[in-house]
Parts: sequence; structure tokens; C-alpha cells
Amino acid sequence: MEEYKYEDLLDRVLKQLPSTTTAESRFVIPELRVFIEGKTTIFDNFDAVCGYMNREQEHVIKFLLNELGTAGKVEGNRVIFQGRFSKGDVERQVMRYMDEYVLCGECKKPDTHIIKMDRVWVLKCDACGAIRPIMKRKRGK
Ligand SMILES: [Zn+2]
Repeated sequence: MEEYKYEDLLDRVLKQLPSTTTAESRFVIPELRVFIEGKTTIFDNFDAVCGYMNREQEHVIKFLLNELGTAGKVEGNRVIFQGRFSKGDVERQVMRYMDEYVLCGECKKPDTHIIKMDRVWVLKCDACGAIRPIMKRKRGK
């Protein structure tokens, strides 16, 4: 009967988790597929990640190249970066991209789009209507 108790406890713990974390949790993108091939790094599901964020490949790749400080190109569904980067390196930049260009500052939902207001680019949330300017950050580092 000891086993039953353990299962019971585990079950209770698992049931408690979703209610506190997933209900209002952050937007999650599919796991990045990043691997090194020779002297380059392949971001294999770039296309899918852009689609998920609902942003143009062109815009995303510009950001990534700039932040990683390298050259690269889109080839089909993937990106090929010059140089070797870990999955964590690429992931970090994708997260920063989302914080800046995708996620609403108020409700953290990704249902947003970029519009120009009074000559300033802003992020407008379709879910809650919040508007925030897109931050101008220092580039390169
Ligand atoms: Zn919002």
C-alpha cells in the first residue's frame, strides 16, 4: 500500500503544477533545432519559429545576425550562420527578439503586431489593446 500512497502524492503534486504555472505562463515557441555543421551553425526550424511568432523571416534574421555579430543566410526553412554557436546562444537571441518585437508588455501575449504611430514604431497588442514603443537598443554587443 506504500506504493499507492506515493502515486497518490505524486498525482496531487502534478495536479497542483499546471494551475499555478501554465494558466498565465509565458508564450512558448517550439524547441529550436540548432546544430553545428563544419564552420557554420544551422538553425533548422527557423521558418517554423518565425511562423509561430508571426513575424517576417527577413526581420528576424536581421536581428539574429546583428546580435550574434555574424553573417548568414536563409536557405529554405533554415538559417545558416557563419561560425559556431550553441543552441543556447541562438535561443537567447530569439528570446530577446520576442521580448522586444512580439510579446505584449502588459499581458505578455504574442498576439501583437508592429505599427507606425507618429513616426515611431510601436507594438500593439490585439489581445488587450496595449501599445508600447519598440525599444531602441545599443547594437552589436
Ligand atoms: Zn496585451
